[in-house]
Amino acid sequence: MNQKLKVVIIEDEKNICRFIETALIAESYKTFTAATALEGLSLITSQCPDMILLDLGLPDMDGIQVIRKIRQFSHTPVIVISARVQEEEKVTALDCGADDYITKPFGTSELMARIRTALRHSHQTDSSNSVYSCKDLMIDFEKRLITLGGEEIHLTQIEYKLVSLLARQAGKVLTYDYLMRQIWGPYSDNNNQILRVNMAHIRRKLESNPAEPEYIFTEIGVGYRMREE
Ligand code: CA
Repeated sequence: MNQKLKVVIIEDEKNICRFIETALIAESYKTFTAATALEGLSLITSQCPDMILLDLGLPDMDGIQVIRKIRQFSHTPVIVISARVQEEEKVTALDCGADDYITKPFGTSELMARIRTALRHSHQTDSSNSVYSCKDLMIDFEKRLITLGGEEIHLTQIEYKLVSLLARQAGKVLTYDYLMRQIWGPYSDNNNQILRVNMAHIRRKLESNPAEPEYIFTEIGVGYRMREE
């Protein structure tokens, strides 16, 4: 790549920050690091990065508040770095505009894959992908056609909406709340049961073993993520 993509890393744990920075530099990204939310926000303003990695546990500001502040002025993808104890918070982070999350400890290949996915989605316009294709599954969004191994799969309207939302953002986790709001509207019940029931039906139709899905993965306590490749 000619022009290096810029990544702002906001993380107060020095070792983790250095680990991420080293991994990104090895992949030819240009990095800027901050140990506090305030430093991070000022770097985002001055550098206009292509990607933001944000630790949820910072000394000077609540992570959720940082995301809200970023989203007031920037659409740059944000990947949240969370500790296992921050389970609840990472869901809120996604619902407040973060694009994805990664849980400590993580490896470089997982981190790079998340970054590539988020970058790809940020550069994609809605109409750019008219087909989703992965292994035996093919979705033609224009024709509203789903085939599995060449055989047409019949989904109800809600099932189709759900699958196409996930497929259009394949690789990215979509939260239960986001899916509920997209499908059942802003006044939908907070109860995810209806979502789970629909997902169970979808899996019965798409997956050869619904207990070990190949296409739509459950992110426990968070939402669903569709396979990207
Ligand atoms: Ca921290």
